[in-house]
Amino acid sequence: MGVTLDLTRAADRPAQTPPKVNLAGLTRDALASVLVEAGVADPRKGRMRANQVWRWIHNFGVTDFAAMTDLAKDARALLQDRFTVARPQVVERQVSRDGTRKWLIRFGPGIEAETVYIPGVGRAGALCVSSQVGCTLNCTFCHTGTQPLVRNLTADEIVAQVQVARDDIGEWPSDKADRMLSNIVFMGMGEPLYNLDHVAAAIDIISDNEGIAISRRRITVSTSGVVPELTPLGARTQAMLAISLHAANDALRDELVPINRKYPLADLMAGVRAYPGLSNARRATFEYVMLKGINDSPADARALVQLIKGIPAKINLIPFNPWPGSPYECSGWSAIETFAAIVNRAGYASPIRTPRGRDILAACGQLKSESEKVRASAKRSQDRQAV
Ligand code: SAH
Ligand code: SF4
Repeated sequence: MGVTLDLTRAADRPAQTPPKVNLAGLTRDALASVLVEAGVADPRKGRMRANQVWRWIHNFGVTDFAAMTDLAKDARALLQDRFTVARPQVVERQVSRDGTRKWLIRFGPGIEAETVYIPGVGRAGALCVSSQVGCTLNCTFCHTGTQPLVRNLTADEIVAQVQVARDDIGEWPSDKADRMLSNIVFMGMGEPLYNLDHVAAAIDIISDNEGIAISRRRITVSTSGVVPELTPLGARTQAMLAISLHAANDALRDELVPINRKYPLADLMAGVRAYPGLSNARRATFEYVMLKGINDSPADARALVQLIKGIPAKINLIPFNPWPGSPYECSGWSAIETFAAIVNRAGYASPIRTPRGRDILAACGQLKSESEKVRASAKRSQDRQAV
């Protein structure tokens, strides 16, 4: 309670300089217009200059305008004045016994998110990126769900997660064929479909062939089921779709994934069936976390098969990853195997996802930054936005 008055005189306060725009978050078109506006390129040369700058940022990964040696000195100085290509601060880096790497990245005071690299997933290795700091939703099995939303990440902050991983892995530039980082999954902190503008811009940037060049077919966006945004997601990004399903009936899903109360299963399934580009070659993924005694019986498996009938899909069975104070236990192996066999017999691939990076709390649903300590007030906004 109470209002804090700022008693310093305006003249005594440090001047508020807005943070410099990070060019890594601009699509190629936006970059061209910004360079023209800033007087770095004349309008006829905007596109060409943008292509030069683009290659330095997204192909070579430079973090300093001084390295852009094919730009005139005064152009570099102009850029330096107005913009940045620097990385955010990596506050913590952990490497798991299984090779999984996790970075805690600070984007600003109290704005932190986690990014995880998992070798051996996808073609070579997958990067799990965050789209928000915290989450407005409160799925009961998810650690991030216990943390209030602090804010959406911007496109440059999403791209920065890929840059930080490539810095660490040493892939500037790299041939597609021998890369360690081949896939991107939006399965870190936050609900990407509540931040679609920035997620879509980040995907445009990450997939650009003259840059990081990760094809849209190797980029998967996971959602808890924000149904009205499914078609816009497919139309704007052509990304692969993953749905965090976790229950095959509304009563249970209402409890586990509370957004289900707003967009129940019938609506969700209709939305998935209509997802642009869905086909046998581009199947949807349903994620299903295995919770002991909650959603893991053979009857649950049969209900799941019934629910997704006719949808080109695979089912990822995720053993529940516990976190401090979590209210569930992971299903036993025989229950998971029985479940997988039922789904498999119905014609759906049903891989059981091996938990990765558990020792560094990097596995699915274990991510949680310390940002909440700084922004306890965000709880109120979470309460307003929760469904
Ligand atoms: N908000 C989005 C994306 C991030 S969550 C979504 O919910 O889809 C990424 C995946 O991890 C989701 O399928 C989520 O349900 C799952 N997950 C969350 N907590 C988990 C836990 N403790 N153990 C295993 N999987 C979990
Ligand atoms: Fe948010 Fe996804 Fe966690 Fe649910 S599972 S609380 S939507 S991050």
